[in-house]
Amino acid sequence: MPLPQLFTDPAAWQARCGEARDAGARLALVPTMGFLHDGHRSLLREARRRADQGGKPGLALATIFVNPTQFGPTEDLSRYPRDLAGDLATCGEAGIDAVLAPPDPALMFGPGHQTWVDVERASQGLCGASRPGHFRGVATVVAKLLNLTRPHLALFGEKDWQQLAVIRAMVGDLAFGVEIVGMPIVREADGLARSSRNAYLKPEQREAALALSRALREAGEAVAAGRRQATALVAAARRRLEAAGARVDYVEVVHPHTLQPVAEAAPGSVLLLAAFVGSTRLIDNLVLP
Ligand code: AMP
Repeated sequence: MPLPQLFTDPAAWQARCGEARDAGARLALVPTMGFLHDGHRSLLREARRRADQGGKPGLALATIFVNPTQFGPTEDLSRYPRDLAGDLATCGEAGIDAVLAPPDPALMFGPGHQTWVDVERASQGLCGASRPGHFRGVATVVAKLLNLTRPHLALFGEKDWQQLAVIRAMVGDLAFGVEIVGMPIVREADGLARSSRNAYLKPEQREAALALSRALREAGEAVAAGRRQATALVAAARRRLEAAGARVDYVEVVHPHTLQPVAEAAPGSVLLLAAFVGSTRLIDNLVLP
């Protein structure tokens, strides 16, 4: 597979995408922070597939940008893993046509930047509570990437369930006119959800990190057996995480769209959890049966 065309300048990208759209191409976008893994690959391939729907080859597009505005002051921005050459190869293998990777954050957020997107309710609680300002940064960069690209559809992973809810709310409330596609969580063979941050884990931490997916699987089994009380599900998941030496950030059973806590896990409720393994913060979730 050929490498995708690389754009570093957002304005050149905007011009190219605009021309393609005006010429009638269907545009599918996958926004990422790079260090691409199988989770991203599934989004990239689906972008290729969906761009080409309708009998005419479309444009499958990805962005690689470690967005400083979604990191807190004490978070891992400077050590976030990067591998642009590897990412371009991965995008090429997945059939991506072009990649925007601005090398300097100032190309996206210049010194004069003063406009922010605040998605009020969906950003509250869960990751929003432990990462103040995170979803404001996410919503703003996604808004900007959507405006630069003006895709027909954009794909996001359900691994970041709250992020997906924030983006759906933003796109609906502000009439972006883009289809948002959520994609299932891709896991390692042993259950660990794929994440660029897994690269931080030492071997023994990698083992402890399995507690997240185990806790979810056990909760799924409990619900399937008729045990639907949220407090009991949360307590059991917390015990599983703590027994593995993980530090729990949150465990909650919520409504899939409003993200409001529920007392009883109805079919489709989501168990969301976040925990620190060492200094690495991991998240995972499961839609309950
Ligand atoms: P990131 O590079 O972490 O910002 O992720 C870019 C996109 O890939 C987001 O929409 C994520 O939700 C999605 N993603 C990350 N990990 C996974 C995974 N394990 N399975 C599915 N999607 C994922």
